[in-house]
Amino acid sequence: MNHDQLWQAVLGEIELNLSKANFTTWFKNTFISSFEDEKVVICVPNTFTKAWLEKKYHQQISGAIQSVSTKTVKQIFYKVETRRNSPMDDLLKKIKIKKEEASSEPVSINQFGLNARYNFESFIVGKGNELAHAASQAVAANPGNAYNPLFIYGGVGLGKTHLLQAVGHEISKRTNKILYITCERFTNDYIHSVKNGKAKEFKDLYRNVDLLLIDDIQFMAGKDGTQEEFFHTFNELHQTNKQIVLTCDRPPKSIPALEKRLLSRFEWGMIVDIAQPDIETRMAILEAKCREKNYSLDPEILYYIANNIQSNIRELEGALNRLIAFHEFNNTKPTIDSSKSVLGSIITSTKTKSITGKDIIESVSKYFDVETKDLTGKCRKKELVYPRQIIMFLMRKETNTSYPTIGQEIGGRDHTTAMHAFNKITKEADDNERIKQDIESIKQLLYNNN
Ligand code: ADP
Ligand code: MG
Repeated sequence: MNHDQLWQAVLGEIELNLSKANFTTWFKNTFISSFEDEKVVICVPNTFTKAWLEKKYHQQISGAIQSVSTKTVKQIFYKVETRRNSPMDDLLKKIKIKKEEASSEPVSINQFGLNARYNFESFIVGKGNELAHAASQAVAANPGNAYNPLFIYGGVGLGKTHLLQAVGHEISKRTNKILYITCERFTNDYIHSVKNGKAKEFKDLYRNVDLLLIDDIQFMAGKDGTQEEFFHTFNELHQTNKQIVLTCDRPPKSIPALEKRLLSRFEWGMIVDIAQPDIETRMAILEAKCREKNYSLDPEILYYIANNIQSNIRELEGALNRLIAFHEFNNTKPTIDSSKSVLGSIITSTKTKSITGKDIIESVSKYFDVETKDLTGKCRKKELVYPRQIIMFLMRKETNTSYPTIGQEIGGRDHTTAMHAFNKITKEADDNERIKQDIESIKQLLYNNN
C-alpha cells in the first residue's frame, strides 16, 4: 500500500464517524507525505486545519491508521504543505457529496415544516456549539430517553433553529408524528382555538405526537393561558416518554414571568447553550457554505470575513451571499480589495459594537471607582465582590467568554466562581432595580466609549 492508498483507507474509516460537512472541511487537501521509522507525517493545507486535527481528531486519525496499516505507528506529525491532487479529491468523487441548496435559492420546507437545509450533515461543529450538537444527536438517536426535555439556548443567529430542526429530520426517518412550531405560532393557535371553541382539537393535536419541537420559547413570557396549556401538554408528553426539544434566546431562569412549575419542568432534562463560534469554526462554516454554492474564494477573503464578523452565523452567511451576488452580477472574480469594498459597510457597523473583556473591566472600574488591578487581583476585600461579579456577568453576557477564561482573567479564579457570579447576577437583576440600573449604566459607559 502506498501513502495515498493508506491515507484513502484511513479517510474511509474517519468518514464513517463524521458529518460530511465536517469531514470535507477538515480533511480536504490532506495527504501523507512520509511514513518512516514508525513516524507518519500528515500534510494539511493551513494552520487552522493543523490545529484542529491535532486538537480534535488526533485520536481518531491515530486509531484509523493503526487499524488500516500493517506497520507500527508510534508518532504522528501534522505539517502545513499543499500539493495539487490529494487522496481526498478522489474520495470525494466516489462518495459524491450531494450539492445542498444554496440559501439564496428558495428554501424547501418539508411536510413537517422543516427546512431541508437544517440537518446534521450541514451543521459545522466547533467550539461553542459542540455540547449542544452532541446533546441534539443523543436525543435524535434515543428520543424520550436521553434527555427530556432538551433545552437549547443562545444568542441570535447561532444555530438553535438549525439544530432543533436537525433533530426533527433525524427522527422523521422513524415516525411521522412530529410537530415543529415556533412558540409564537403555538401561542396564536392556542388563543384561536379557545376563541373558536376548538380547545379540544388543539389538545389532541399537541398531546398526540412522538416529538414536539418548539422554537423560541421565550415568547411564552407573561402569557399565562398559553403557559398553563403548555404545562399540561408537557406533562402528558413527558409521562409517555415523548421527546420535547425547546430553544430559547436565554436560559430558563432568565425568562421573565415564567410560571415556577414550568421553569422546573424545563430544568428536568438537559440545558445546553450555544456560544459564539471561534475563528476556526467561522472559517469552516464559510468554507462549507462556499462548497454548497459551488463557489470558490481565496482563504484570505474567507479569513477577512470570518475575522470581522464574529457574533452571528446568519450575518456571516449574509456577508458571503452579498459578496457572491455582487461579483456574479458584475461578472468579476472577488479580490481582497473588492471584498473589502463590498463588505466594508456591514463590517464597520458590526465592529463598532464589539467590545472586549478589558473594556468591561475598565468601565466597571470607572463606574464603581475602584482600581482595575484590584478587580483583577486576588484581594478578598468585601467591596470588590459585587463589582467583580458584575464584570464576570458582563463578560459572559456581552462577549460570550467561556467561564474558565473569565475565571482566569479575574484573578485566576475557578470557572465555578464565574458561573456562580453569572447566575447570581442574572437572577438578582430580575427583581432588584439597583442591580438592573447598575448594569444598564455600565453598558452605556461601555458602548459609548467604543
Ligand atoms: P438561531 O435560531 O440561533 O437564531 P439559526 O439556526 O437560524 O439561528 O442559524 C442562522 C443561520 O446560520 C442558518 O442559516 C444556519 O443554517 C446557519 N448556521 C448556524 N450554525 C451553523 C453551523 N454550526 N453550521 C452551519 N450553519 C450554521
Ligand atoms: Mg431561531
